Amino acid sequence: MEIRTRFAPSPTGYMHIGNLRTALYEYLIAKSKGGKFILRIEDTDQGRLVEGATDVIYNTLKITGLHHDEGPDVGGDYGPYIQSQRMGMYLQYALDLVEKGQAYYCFCTKERLEGLKTSNQKGDAFARYDRHCLSLSKEEIQANLDAKIPYVIRQKMPTEGTTTFHDVVYGDITVDNSELDDQILIKADGFPTYNFANVVDDHLMQITHVVRGSEYLSSTPKYNLLYDAFGWDAPTYVHLPPVMRDAQHKLSKRHGDKSFEDLLEEGYLTEAIVNYIALLGWSPSDNTEIFSLKELEEKFDISGLSKSPSIFDIKKLTWMNSKYLEAMDFDKFYSLAEPRLRSAIKNTSLDLKKIATLIQKRLETLNDIPRLVDFFDTLPDYSTELYIHKKMKTTEEIALSSLEACVPVLEQLPQWEETSIHDAMMNLVAELGIKNGQLLWPIRTALSGEPTSPGGAIELADILGKEESLRRIHIGIEKLKQLQ
Ligand code: GLU
Repeated sequence: MEIRTRFAPSPTGYMHIGNLRTALYEYLIAKSKGGKFILRIEDTDQGRLVEGATDVIYNTLKITGLHHDEGPDVGGDYGPYIQSQRMGMYLQYALDLVEKGQAYYCFCTKERLEGLKTSNQKGDAFARYDRHCLSLSKEEIQANLDAKIPYVIRQKMPTEGTTTFHDVVYGDITVDNSELDDQILIKADGFPTYNFANVVDDHLMQITHVVRGSEYLSSTPKYNLLYDAFGWDAPTYVHLPPVMRDAQHKLSKRHGDKSFEDLLEEGYLTEAIVNYIALLGWSPSDNTEIFSLKELEEKFDISGLSKSPSIFDIKKLTWMNSKYLEAMDFDKFYSLAEPRLRSAIKNTSLDLKKIATLIQKRLETLNDIPRLVDFFDTLPDYSTELYIHKKMKTTEEIALSSLEACVPVLEQLPQWEETSIHDAMMNLVAELGIKNGQLLWPIRTALSGEPTSPGGAIELADILGKEESLRRIHIGIEKLKQLQ
C-alpha cells in the first residue's frame, strides 16, 4: 500500500517549530518509503483566520524543500485541499452514520444544555450530554425536522467497555468508553465540527499515517470510534511529544519563543534549522548529527522516534548553523552574505568577496556579519592596550616602533597585493631581527582597531588598500605616541 501522509496546519500566520517538525516527519515518513506527502489547509475556524497565513505555509514548505505532492497550490486527485472549500461534503457522511445507528439528531436547546452543565455535580464547564434525544422516535424526529427545529448530529458513543488504539510513539492507549461524550459531528449551522471534518478528510484523502502533536492524543479514541462507526480503516497514529523550552515549559510563540521565521530573521540557515528540528524527537541508529534533507529521506525510520519531550537548545542549533556555514559552497555563501555585507560596509571600493572569504568560517549565524566586518568601514576608537599581546610578545613600545618601521616600506611598495605586502613584511621582520608577531600583531591591531578580526595584518591591508591602511597605521602611531 502506498504511504500517504498529510500536513494539516491551521493557518496562524507563522510556523511554530513544533509544526514544522510535524511537517518534516510527515514528509520523511512518506519520502523514506516512496510515498506521497499532502498539504491540507484546515481553515475552518474562521475566528482564528489571519491574512496571508496560508502563504506562510506555502513559503515554509517551499524554502525548506518539503515539497508536497498534492495540495491547494499543486492540485491532486483528492481535492479540494482547503477545508473551507469542502464544507458541503460532510453532512452526507453524518447522515450515513445516522442511518447506520451510529449517530443521532439532537434538538436540545442551548438553555437545556446549559442546564445540564449547572446540574452537573462537579459544577465544571464540561458535562457529558445526557442522550436525551437518543430516545426520540422516528416520527418525533421527522416532526422536528419538518418544523425546522435547529439540530446538531451527535455520534453515539459506546457506554460500556474500553477503546484501545495503538500509537507508534506512545504505544497502546486505552480509555473507558463511559468517559466519552456523544460528540457533535455536525453543528446547528450545518457545518462539521473540526474533529469530524478531520476524520472524513483523512479517510477521503486515503491518508495512511497521521502525525500530530500529543495534545491530540486525548481526542484520538473519539477519532478511532468514528472510523469504526463508518467501517473504515483507521490510519497509523504518530503522536509527537511537545518541543520544550526547558524541562517544565512547552515552546510557545506567545511566551516569546521563536518561530521558524524568527530564526531565519536571526540569520539561521533553512538547512540547519531543518536538520536540527529533525533531531528533536528522532535519532538515527548511528547517532550521526549532520544530515541534508536528502540524507534524512534515506535514513529516516519511524522506529527512531522517541516519546520523551525534547528541549529546543538554541546553542546546539547555533553550533549546527556554524557547521553549515563553514561547509557551504562559497558562491552560495556569498549570495547570502552579500546583502548583509553591503549594509554594513558603505565603502564601495572594498572587495566584498575577499571579506566574505575571511569571515565564512568564523560565523555562527549570518547576523554575526555586521559585527565582524564593521571595522572595514569605520575604524573604531580603541585602547592602545590592544597592542599588548603576550603570545605575540608585543608591548606598546614594540608596537610603536614596528608601526613606524613599516610605514616607509609600505609607502614604497609598487604593487599593493597580498604577496607583495607579505614579502615586504617578512623582509622587514628579518631586517629588524624581531618575531613575525611583533610586526604583524601591531599592524593587524592598527588596521582593525579590534581585539580580534577576521584575517591578519596582510589580508586586512590588502583589502583596505594602501591609502586607508597607511592612514590607520598613522592613527595607531599617534595613539601610541601619546602614551610617551
Ligand atoms: N489542524 C491541526 C493543527 O494545526 C492539525 C491536526 C491534525 O494533524 O490532525 O493543529
